[in-house]
Amino acid sequence: MANKDYYSTLGVGKNASDDEIKSAYRQMAKKYHPDLNKTPEAAEKFKEINEAYSVLSDKQKRANYDQFGSADGPQGFGGGQGFSGFGGNGGFGGFEDIFNIFSNFGGRGGGRPQQEEGEDINTNLTITFTEAAFGVEKEITITRKERCKDCGGTGAKSNSDYVTCSECNGAGRVTHTQQTLFGMTRTTGICRNCNGKGKVVKEKCPNCRGAGLKTVTTKIKVKIPAGIDNDQIIRLNGEGHQTASTDGVAGDLRIAIKVQSHPLLVRNGLDLFVDVYAPITTLLLGGKVEVPTLKGITTIDVAPLTQSNTKYTLKGKGIKYLKGFGSGDIIVTLKGEMPKDVDKNTIKILKELKDSINEKAYPKTNNYKKKLEN
Ligand SMILES: [Zn+2]
Ligand SMILES: [Zn+2]
Repeated sequence: MANKDYYSTLGVGKNASDDEIKSAYRQMAKKYHPDLNKTPEAAEKFKEINEAYSVLSDKQKRANYDQFGSADGPQGFGGGQGFSGFGGNGGFGGFEDIFNIFSNFGGRGGGRPQQEEGEDINTNLTITFTEAAFGVEKEITITRKERCKDCGGTGAKSNSDYVTCSECNGAGRVTHTQQTLFGMTRTTGICRNCNGKGKVVKEKCPNCRGAGLKTVTTKIKVKIPAGIDNDQIIRLNGEGHQTASTDGVAGDLRIAIKVQSHPLLVRNGLDLFVDVYAPITTLLLGGKVEVPTLKGITTIDVAPLTQSNTKYTLKGKGIKYLKGFGSGDIIVTLKGEMPKDVDKNTIKILKELKDSINEKAYPKTNNYKKKLEN
């Protein structure tokens, strides 16, 4: 993984600023997102782009990469399974970006400054560890302002009750001329009669009492992609509060995902960590040991004379990369468990065992004095 040129993947120079990198990433991600680009190369390319961005958008990883050719610094990442080492907590902040990119497609376009904007709604959604690992569809209930269906947002009982403002003749602005100590001054301001709308309501819509908006409780389906991590945010553009004006743009619904912890597995990025206990006799003699995974129990083969704290890597059994390419690993730490209770006969056998093993067979034991002298 050291030989990849992340800069050329994103098409930027080595001195590119964070903004340049972000902008290049957005463009490339749009171009190669597999939902939009069905060419066979797109998926691979998209994966490379994400990998490059996950490194170059993170100051520490970028510095490591510039210096050592690896995001993980001089030691590298032992497993070497593509980008399994990335995407950790905070490492790859692109999730919300990606959602923005795609929900903005065919959307409302940015630069219309005078457009009225509805407020965003922020909410939380708690899901289980397994739901986060495999993805899930949930329905959430939110309360938001929606444009009144009876009056279409005007606030008037009927079309004939929505009339041009007589103060400003529909301009929405009025000019006042005033005599002051310094002479005549002219000030232009928003028409207070119509609040700048240019129109006034004669008789109010009974449904929204003239507000043009109603507070509504509604259910929304949320697709949560496999691999989402705690505190990541899913943003649904246009699902926030609406505006009374039909020219306005509804706010967004931002859902912060809270992932419950797993009883056994601990997540770090895409990798899962678990401590597994086996009787000391299994470590001595070898045998099979059960390991919990996301899909139930699997077993590992433990060789005879295995040390306590030996680590095993179950490749690809970890968390799926958010947009669907590759998975992390499960890293198992095997620990020897002492029996809680032993009978006299066992103690006799254990004493025989102790006597039968030459102390040279324990190179780490009782060697401290010698090491201190060196
Ligand atoms: Zn209404
Ligand atoms: Zn007016």
